[in-house]
Amino acid sequence: MYGYVHSIETMGTVDGPGLRYVVFTAGCPLRCKYCHNPDTWQLENGKKMTSDEILADFEKYRPYLRNGGITLSGGEPLLQIDFVTDLFTKAQQKDIHTCLDTSGVTFSKEAARLDKFKKLAEVTNLVMLDIKHINAEVYKELTGGKLTETLEFLDFLAKETDCDIWIRHVIVKGYTYKTEYLYQLGYCIGQYKNIKAIDVLPYHDMAVNKYEELGLDYPLKDMPAMTKEQAVKARTVIEAGIRDRVLGNQARY
Ligand code: SF4
Repeated sequence: MYGYVHSIETMGTVDGPGLRYVVFTAGCPLRCKYCHNPDTWQLENGKKMTSDEILADFEKYRPYLRNGGITLSGGEPLLQIDFVTDLFTKAQQKDIHTCLDTSGVTFSKEAARLDKFKKLAEVTNLVMLDIKHINAEVYKELTGGKLTETLEFLDFLAKETDCDIWIRHVIVKGYTYKTEYLYQLGYCIGQYKNIKAIDVLPYHDMAVNKYEELGLDYPLKDMPAMTKEQAVKARTVIEAGIRDRVLGNQARY
């Protein structure tokens, strides 16, 4: 089966455990204001590649990727769920660790769609779930999408699958970098036991040039980049929310 691929990074260090072979799929239905990959948005701009071609290429790098595996990122891989499932099925048959980097967009409990997600989960070792905002209204404003899809996907992963889950969250001044939102995020994810890690990522503005090249307006003009220290601070607030949830305390916000 073929999919549309934007690009491949053969030595990814931040896209899952160990060194990773990262396939950036083309196509994304969201329009996050801080997106640093606007060049991945259009499905048809991707290059058609089959799962077998990708796995044959992976084998060239396998000796270096011993503690890693393959990660599908994007764009949004779930836009091509059948392709991802096919690729991960074949990868696992070759003992390759599989990781899906996603926002959970397009998740649905509608029977036919849910069936596809179940099949994908069976061949996915790790899901890195990007929760872009914990407030539905601001989520819509920040991404153009629906928070419910992300949270329902998380609930499905936690209750109906054996996938490990890492949560990712980008802190952006005026959007996500607020105590009540960070705490609410922690309180939400604190109900799930199979979350193995939380990555808090500071917003950066390194994509500005890409927008210019594509003739697109950069939505967060003049937005200051966030620091590692601010990410550490945000993390402590998220952890306070998790702690309260785990201890059965009332939410503070
Ligand atoms: S989900 Fe990722 S690729 Fe899609 S718009 Fe958001 S940041 Fe960009």
